[in-house]
Amino acid sequence: MNIKDHIREVPDFPKPGILFYDISTLLMHPAAWRHTVEQLAEAMAPHKPDLLAGIESRGFLVSAPLALKLGCGFIMLRKKGKLPGATVKHSYDLEYGTDTIEIQEGAVQPGQKVVLVDDLLATGGTMAAAAHLIRKVGGVVPAAACIIELTFLNGRSKLDMPVTTLAQYD
Ligand code: 5GP
Repeated sequence: MNIKDHIREVPDFPKPGILFYDISTLLMHPAAWRHTVEQLAEAMAPHKPDLLAGIESRGFLVSAPLALKLGCGFIMLRKKGKLPGATVKHSYDLEYGTDTIEIQEGAVQPGQKVVLVDDLLATGGTMAAAAHLIRKVGGVVPAAACIIELTFLNGRSKLDMPVTTLAQYD
């Protein structure tokens, strides 16, 4: 089973000159999607996570079934203003401007092992910010998992935990 056969490449999205890797076609194919989740589960199980932290929004699609498979909890890292109740925030720089992600207060207990999950690793800025936020609330980040990696952007160089990806593009 080749996961890349189920990833659609959309030119000029969201801006001219950008090639977007679309996982919608993977989600529509139950055998390929099951295979994807199983591969990630096999890679993450040795890290024995207490929680998976899914990164908004496609990261949620990956981490919900993955958490069930691993038998661990699942928490959401969301963009500003989406989570009810008290939150802890982290702002980080983008190419132009800044962005803020949030987690619910009390979602992570100090010392818990939290594996980060997203659909795609590009520059690594999003994943680095997620790691920062989890550590800010006392969590430990043993690993990260994504379906796709754009290797030419070298996102791994921004990260200090092992990262598993299933389909690499250069
Ligand atoms: P980074 O912060 O690593 O540069 O960007 C990664 C984030 O942008 C991820 O949350 C991912 O969902 C989103 N992203 C950037 N490019 C793509 C793409 O081509 N396809 C998909 N599915 N997501 C992308």
